[in-house]
Amino acid sequence: MKVKIAADILNANEKIAAENRDLFRQSGVLVINLMSSPGAGKTTLLEGTIAALKGRHKIAVIEGDVATTADAERIEKAGVPVVQINTGSMCHLDGSMVQSALSEFDLDSLDLLIIENVGNLVCPAEFNLGEDHKVMLLSVAEGDDKPLKYPLMFHESSALVINKTDLIPHTNFDLEKAVCDSLSINPKLSVFPLSCRNGEGLAAWYGWLEGNLNGR
Ligand code: MG
Repeated sequence: MKVKIAADILNANEKIAAENRDLFRQSGVLVINLMSSPGAGKTTLLEGTIAALKGRHKIAVIEGDVATTADAERIEKAGVPVVQINTGSMCHLDGSMVQSALSEFDLDSLDLLIIENVGNLVCPAEFNLGEDHKVMLLSVAEGDDKPLKYPLMFHESSALVINKTDLIPHTNFDLEKAVCDSLSINPKLSVFPLSCRNGEGLAAWYGWLEGNLNGR
């Protein structure tokens, strides 16, 4: 019985995600669903990405968090429209939460909408939001065993960003193992090791985003 309820919830979500996707296509906006554990650096990556791209592309952000408007306040300072969704006890965003936030934006005027999901390595990957691409962010401090332990996140994503590479000398994180394990789960992953702190590797990530923006 429990399995059936879970299936019903996921089916209902798929319908709303499809509605969102139609709306995004009509508006010509590229939508990224950014997922990671808490503290991996999603908001910091967004701040850098906005600073690098906002001169050439119209960007907006949806911030998903269990509580607080702290991340939305950071994005607002970065100078783009942002809506905060507080999920309360929910560990992920779903299609209806995103749908209810869309009226806050002029979608037709946007090039890129980035949805920062709730920090969690499990549930966000199960709920489509209507996005073009899921992007998984893994930080060095979390350990190189995460791809094999939480494979769905890596399986569902188009790109894997490995953040905090400046910390590698201080950890036993094996970058080659993390990349190999991730590609064994999903050979199509584009992988971007980078450091939001010192800027190393960020240009390749921006290049991937701009490639997708130009290919819309
Ligand atoms: Mg955040």
